[in-house]
Amino acid sequence: MKKFRKAVVAGNWKMNKSVKEAVSLAETVHRELSDQRDVDVILSPPFTALQAVGEVLAEGQIKLSAQNMHWEKDGAYTGEVSAAMLRDLYCRYVILGHSERRSHFGETDEIVNRKASMALQSGLEPIICVGESLEQREADETMDVVETQLTAALAGLENQVAKINLAYEPVWAIGTGLTATPRQAQEVHAHIRSVLATLTDESASQAVRIQYGGSVKIENIVELLQQEDIDGALVGGASLEARTFVQMVLSLSEELG
Ligand code: PEP
Repeated sequence: MKKFRKAVVAGNWKMNKSVKEAVSLAETVHRELSDQRDVDVILSPPFTALQAVGEVLAEGQIKLSAQNMHWEKDGAYTGEVSAAMLRDLYCRYVILGHSERRSHFGETDEIVNRKASMALQSGLEPIICVGESLEQREADETMDVVETQLTAALAGLENQVAKINLAYEPVWAIGTGLTATPRQAQEVHAHIRSVLATLTDESASQAVRIQYGGSVKIENIVELLQQEDIDGALVGGASLEARTFVQMVLSLSEELG
């Protein structure tokens, strides 16, 4: 199943793990996956563990990501973290527009766009999440919803898509154990790529990696990634246990190798 776009698997640890636990998880992932080259691996610990996990990953292939950032460069934004601060900790990526940010913290498409713009200006590669709610899927609005989210998130940034990863995460599949079938996910990924082609051009759209997220686990990761337009996985729950996460990446690497 060799593909033109290199596979990527990112673990989003959300608001979990003490610094000690995060280091231990990162150490295992680093040790077990440092030899494989088929899959790009990204770890996204909470802010409090970024520095310590960054130190564990410093010598290897595994990259560090934050889960959020502020859209301004600096200033009076109590409790917030800037893109420059993340770069300072050697983050390469930042997850933006996760549905939990959108639903619990009122993040709009416009905010996601401002954050993406600041991330790119600061040398971070955003992983921009889009996805429909269950209601929207049932109302047959999935394609329109992701198109609107994507178009808004990329406004003014279309010529920088080479530095952007996308993640399709149907809200109804996040943390619920419900996964989109490979066919359902592929349909939306193909649509996302066609929207990208209209926003940019065909060749730029072909180069962008689109990850799938929503209850990805050992049992379904390979089949999902076998779909033509699914280039990676954004993994929440199943990334919190080292063995499980490592096994997911290794099974993919075996399939790709
Ligand atoms: C996520 O948080 O991005 C996610 C996909 O979570 P889970 O894998 O637990 O559904």
